[in-house]
Amino acid sequence: MADSVNALPFFYGNITREEAEDYLKQAGVGNGSYLLRQSRNYLGGFALSVLHSGRCYHYTIEREPNETYAIAGGKSHRSPVDVIDYHSQEMDGLVCLLKKPCNRPKNMQPKVGPFEDLKEKLIREYVKQTWNLQGAALEQAIISQRPQLEKLIATTAHERMPWFHGTITREDSEPRLQNGSRTNGKFLIRQRDLNGSYALCLLHEGQVMHYRIDRDRMGKLSIPDGKKFDTLWQLVEHYSYKPDGLLRVLTEPCPRPDGEIGRPLLPRDHPGLSSALQNAAGGILSRLKTVPIPGRKKSRESRHNTTDNLNPYETRVPSNQAGSKEAMPMDTEVYESPYADPDELRSSTVDRNQLFLEDGELGSGNFGTVMKGIYKMRKTEKPVAVKILKNDDNNPSVREEMLREANVMQQLDNPYIVRMIGICEAENLMLVMELAELGPLNKFLQKNKQTTIKNITELVHQVSMGMKYLEEHNFVHRDLAARNVLLVTQHYAKISDFGLSKAVAEEQNYYKAKGHGKWPVKWYAPECINYFKFSSKSDVWSFGVLMWEAYSYGQKPYKGMKGNDVMQMIESGKRMDAPMNCPPEMYDLMRTCWTYKADERPGFTIVEPRLREYYYDIAQ
Ligand code: ATP
Repeated sequence: MADSVNALPFFYGNITREEAEDYLKQAGVGNGSYLLRQSRNYLGGFALSVLHSGRCYHYTIEREPNETYAIAGGKSHRSPVDVIDYHSQEMDGLVCLLKKPCNRPKNMQPKVGPFEDLKEKLIREYVKQTWNLQGAALEQAIISQRPQLEKLIATTAHERMPWFHGTITREDSEPRLQNGSRTNGKFLIRQRDLNGSYALCLLHEGQVMHYRIDRDRMGKLSIPDGKKFDTLWQLVEHYSYKPDGLLRVLTEPCPRPDGEIGRPLLPRDHPGLSSALQNAAGGILSRLKTVPIPGRKKSRESRHNTTDNLNPYETRVPSNQAGSKEAMPMDTEVYESPYADPDELRSSTVDRNQLFLEDGELGSGNFGTVMKGIYKMRKTEKPVAVKILKNDDNNPSVREEMLREANVMQQLDNPYIVRMIGICEAENLMLVMELAELGPLNKFLQKNKQTTIKNITELVHQVSMGMKYLEEHNFVHRDLAARNVLLVTQHYAKISDFGLSKAVAEEQNYYKAKGHGKWPVKWYAPECINYFKFSSKSDVWSFGVLMWEAYSYGQKPYKGMKGNDVMQMIESGKRMDAPMNCPPEMYDLMRTCWTYKADERPGFTIVEPRLREYYYDIAQ
């Protein structure tokens, strides 16, 4: 959304209400002229300023939890532009119809808020320190979790501000303000209690005034009867340009005593955090409550309380922040590469004595069964999935197939792909892999119909990231389908089943099958069926079908049709209809993936950013 709104000529970015009034009046366009600006109190929200009979009226356009936009109490729309279009036709509570956009002066770009510049740096530093990541793993974490990280940073950024003094008492705050310069408007903010209540302490004519900042049930912060804000830094920004009920505006931040940094109430002990960052992150981290989730990092699990009544697939941060936060892929044990520590995995051979199989199957197939297990390494234990080849002397080719699959998997190392831990030759041939305990995506969605579109888009986007990696490394998957996407958590997907995968030569970039096999025809592009030609472009076609499966909550594609009928349907130019309630943007992308000619079909380098953009739009 941010990008598309930024391009609007009547969007001014982070300007104040007064600046908006000046622009509208100077433009002299008259009644019904309007402009759009970024909300300075609601994260992700906008403000609409309208001129009518010489006066300016301002309406907040809030981003609603279901990813729609509305003027408080009004009709919901898919975007702020749709809100504007609607009010060009209907007053519906507005002072007048919106008649003419007041465009930005020539060469003026939308104004960037003071926090925006800092944000990028904070996100990077936060991910690096919290999860001890670097290189590609760091970049991928930021790409896949940007909306969550932005919110996390936005709601904890105050802890890095010089004016935030943590949990000091009222008595302690006064000498801090009285020391040094005694400028009117000098201020600090202190934390009062665990419920997210703060106090704004302001120097006025030599006296310190204390204003309570309370958090309401929606998580919004305000001085009693004052304007409401999502974050403390927005509140400070607002009262720095306008007293709005205070005795005076905030002028000079009162710095914390030398070296001291805002101290939240609960202790923090994340080993990877530098002291400065601990204070940026600690507020959230210290209040993180978890329930055991598959592959959850042990170090974290032991640090947090356990809550019984949460969805078992979710971890949440109820904290004092607005809204709640789910576990991120980086919180699990299978985000980071098992090959990252060379002392641990030096060979791809797994020692049978260190492998402990548990009762109960995770799944099965032609080859045999998949069991859950634990692999004891030098320093840590890893929960694993073990594909066990059944002893079938009549069919040596199954053994070869499994070794081929292992050979492909061994060459891949990406957070959104199930990694191989190793091969174990014992009573049976066993392929030991990272565990993705929630199982196949299609089955998960069939059972969990309440999964939101945002959640589905997050998962599908992760699959596109994994596929982009495969494409870059010249591998074709050849069996991409929702059944072969396994979930580690409700918010973390990995591509699996490399039984049909092939490495392709860089210059040729496709694999030519010798003949027709037992193929998942409904997932295959026309050139696979007609010419046995497989490339990343044909994986893109399959990805379109996978998207269709995901947005239809695990339904079978081309239901009730035979492979031949599907081929005829495709040849005649017809494609599957959009799943019910599927976002049009996503159906549009599916249709693009089903472009008949491989040459005209986009690759994952195009598909992934398109998904990313849509995901950021709805998730911010
Ligand atoms: P297909 O029929 O799609 O070719 P397959 O016979 O090759 O599948 P897999 O898909 O590799 O078998 O595994 C069968 C089932 O075992 C999966 O559907 C899944 O439920 C389970 N499984 C496989 N790998 C894992 C894993 N790494 N973590 C958890 N479960 C797994």
